[in-house]
Amino acid sequence: MSATNPCVTCGACCANFRVSFYWAEGNDAPNGYVPAELTEQINSFYRCMRGTNSSTPRCVALQGDIGGVVGCSIYGDRPSPCRDFAISLDGSNPACDRARAKYGMAPLITIQEVA
Ligand code: SF4
Ligand code: SF4
Repeated sequence: MSATNPCVTCGACCANFRVSFYWAEGNDAPNGYVPAELTEQINSFYRCMRGTNSSTPRCVALQGDIGGVVGCSIYGDRPSPCRDFAISLDGSNPACDRARAKYGMAPLITIQEVA
C-alpha cells in the first residue's frame, strides 16, 4: 500500500468480520502461506485469522490504531478474503462503508466528493 492509500489510516475491515478461508491457505499445508500460528481452526475445511472469531473482532495481524496509522504484519502473506476485499473508493463495496461507519469514519466516496 502506498502512503496515499486510505487503508493505511483506516483498518476497519480488519476489525469487523470473521476472516475465514480454506484451511490449506495456512503455511502448515504444502502450498500455504498464511502463518498458521496466527490462525484458528473453525472446522475440517476452514480456519480464520485469530482474533476475528469474536463478537468484537480484531485480527491479530493488525498493527496500530483503527482510524490512525495501521498496517498488516503479514501483508504479503495475508489470506484470500483480505486480498479480495475491495476498497470502496466509488461506493462499490458497502461492506467497506459499513466497517468504516462502525468506527466513525465516513464512506470514502463522501470524503472524495468534498475534497
Ligand atoms: S474498511 Fe475499506 S478503507 Fe478501511 S482498510 Fe478496509 S478496505 Fe480500506
Ligand atoms: S491478515 Fe492483515 S489484512 Fe487480513 S484482516 Fe488481518 S490485518 Fe487485516
